[in-house]
Amino acid sequence: MNSTSPMLQIILTDLDGTLLDHQTYDYSPARPALAKLKEKNIPLVLCTSKTAAEVLPFRAEIENEDPFIVENGGGIYIPNSYFSTIPMETRQIDHFLVISLGKPCSELQEALDRIGDENGWVVESFLQMTASQLAEKSGLSLPQAVRALQREFDLPFRILSQNYSRRQLEEKVQRFGLRFTQGGRFFHLSKDGEKGEAVAQLLELYRINHGGPVLSIGLGDSHNDLSMLREVHVPVIIPNPHSLAPLSDELPAAQRAHAPGPKGWNDVVLSLLVDERMGKEAKLT
Ligand SMILES: [Mg+2]
Repeated sequence: MNSTSPMLQIILTDLDGTLLDHQTYDYSPARPALAKLKEKNIPLVLCTSKTAAEVLPFRAEIENEDPFIVENGGGIYIPNSYFSTIPMETRQIDHFLVISLGKPCSELQEALDRIGDENGWVVESFLQMTASQLAEKSGLSLPQAVRALQREFDLPFRILSQNYSRRQLEEKVQRFGLRFTQGGRFFHLSKDGEKGEAVAQLLELYRINHGGPVLSIGLGDSHNDLSMLREVHVPVIIPNPHSLAPLSDELPAAQRAHAPGPKGWNDVVLSLLVDERMGKEAKLT
């Protein structure tokens, strides 16, 4: 802990459509950059809407040992002994200290039940489905469905009644102080939080524990990455031709990868790692 500590670079990345191909989930074009990060001991923080159970197999596959952020900022997973100081409340889950920012699914379910009862809507959430039911409804494989059901802070649900509108639903959810988003197949209920809040807390932990300047680089492809990209020194947009809401309009100063998915990710990460000027130009905190 002194002012002569070297600058610590940290990469924070979204997964789907960013480090992973939007359609095939392949990451292999990013292998050269992933190897370079390992060689230089640069932390790589996975920051995703996926659950911890979904992230863990991929994290093992790329031999990643850094903290990660799950369920759109609902939880921060920090390997035991990774930081010497964590001045926030944590709980132990397996080999991780977990900072919870989201509302537990059991509380989200109570709110969802009340919303259904008050409006005469029949609702069905992930908590009420078996893995085989989810696999059948979503096209996930059975093991993928098992992992997708292990949620803590984000509750996917459907309304089986016809007598509702998206707008009504959004209003009702907001009255409970909760957030409503629409995914590909399901609605999602969560506490009104985003990836950015979790990123800010994790970067603070790196600053406290590193004791020297920290330079954060963030990569994302879609709207739910916006708050993360606003928290980092160097935001990078990975273009996604499938995205309905391009990020470039919202972050005019961000760098833009030249290719979608892992190919663009690889090129831009390699270019940033060799850019010596970057640390001098960025305003470090
Ligand atoms: Mg994405």
